[in-house]
Amino acid sequence: MRRLFALALCLFWLVLLQSAEIRDDALWLEIYLADGAQLNLNAVDTQLPVFTITEQTSPISRQVQGHLKISFMNWDKLPFWGLLNRIEPLTSAMDDGDYAMRQSFVWQDDALVLKREKLVFEPQSFHSQTSALDYAQQTGVPAQQVHAIPMLNATVKVVAGDKDYYFETPLHIQSQQEIRIGEQRLSFGGEFIIKAMGEKLLITHLISLEDYIAGVIQNEIGSGAPLEALKAQAVTARTHAVSQLLYNRHRGDGYDLCNSVHCQVYKGRYLSNANIVRAVEETAKEVLITEHRIADATYHSSCGGKTDSSANIWKSTPLEHLMGVTCLDEAEKYDLSTEQGVRRWIDVVINDPQASSWERANLGWKRDVSRSRLAQNLGLKSVSKIEILKRGHSGRIILMRITGNKTVTLDSEYRIRQAFGGLPSSLFYIAKSGSTITLKGKGAGHGVGMCQTGTLRLAREDWTYDAILEKYYPGTTLYKDWVNP
Ligand SMILES: [Zn+2]
Ligand SMILES: [Zn+2]
Repeated sequence: MRRLFALALCLFWLVLLQSAEIRDDALWLEIYLADGAQLNLNAVDTQLPVFTITEQTSPISRQVQGHLKISFMNWDKLPFWGLLNRIEPLTSAMDDGDYAMRQSFVWQDDALVLKREKLVFEPQSFHSQTSALDYAQQTGVPAQQVHAIPMLNATVKVVAGDKDYYFETPLHIQSQQEIRIGEQRLSFGGEFIIKAMGEKLLITHLISLEDYIAGVIQNEIGSGAPLEALKAQAVTARTHAVSQLLYNRHRGDGYDLCNSVHCQVYKGRYLSNANIVRAVEETAKEVLITEHRIADATYHSSCGGKTDSSANIWKSTPLEHLMGVTCLDEAEKYDLSTEQGVRRWIDVVINDPQASSWERANLGWKRDVSRSRLAQNLGLKSVSKIEILKRGHSGRIILMRITGNKTVTLDSEYRIRQAFGGLPSSLFYIAKSGSTITLKGKGAGHGVGMCQTGTLRLAREDWTYDAILEKYYPGTTLYKDWVNP
């Protein structure tokens, strides 16, 4: 009986996990900002902030003034865990009953579609994951069926100034001022959603895809980059975001994309300027597609001469648009899959007077690594032999064997970089090998897709962004009619 009562508390008819939507012909997303037992929202300027708070399920909204402290009212009484019985397509928005609604992204007929499903839970629900797992084990239900129940009707207490208010989640919060969450350095403006997920409150930034892209590209290529480079970066970041959405990696988390490198680093309007906004506007909605699919628009800091193929670097199925291209014309003369070609190329000094110090550092570097440190990183007692077995199209080492008291095979550029203590890239040769190993190299990052250093250089040489994209992702096309009305 108590359990049934608990269930009624948590699963009211129709609840929505994410609120990605198409509004005014634009895609709106929920970007993760923070979570915790209590969320504090403070205005950045000295003036007391004014917030408009609306319950998502009711039309009533309220204006409150002062910094906000939001906490659970009754969380110790709420069950958060349940056993998922089945997932069904949602046939009608008016469909009744106890279930949660989940949304995922699919690509259908050259358009993005928001597919909605019903998550139907067993009547039992639990206060902790452990008790749900125990129950599942006792009754022979597979552990994968234990899910956090989206707690979208939990009540929160909102303290603003000296006044207390009570609301049911999810809450929509709007402010004209820049808001900082807790002690975080960054601030965000506009619309936010607060919801209960698991035993925590979650705050997301509800923002249009285009504004999100403006908040992403500033971290990627520098806010002072030439306009055409910013435009190329805007298209790749947007394409990447849409393909991330299609992976639906955060489908059960209560938001669409996270704000870290796992998706793309998002810092609000932190460094945004007129040029960034213009780059996003002038490429609005444009993504790269290939054969009616969203292209894999991966990118990196600096190829070091030629880009590599995704098949070499990640051992994935070869993709026509990620086979590797020549970025710096001078590199064309060298066969970088050979040891001799790589040595000669790395020793070439690239002189670009317009290049920034960041670009120059990527075009030629030297590192000293102690032999004992290398052994330690690989769990070896000593290192007696280092063999380079295979290089990719860009010259990056993709297979290496290191011998000491035993033999270690490093079969990815990433593992190789890590073994040597975090190198900029695996495009290097061993210049000196004693108790200290001296490496000389070029490039930074994995080397697949668009090269940011090359993009900056080409933009300075008056290349347009579409030509830059065509160079790094050959065979792809720019496409903007994918927002399904
Ligand atoms: Zn993520
Ligand atoms: Zn390059």
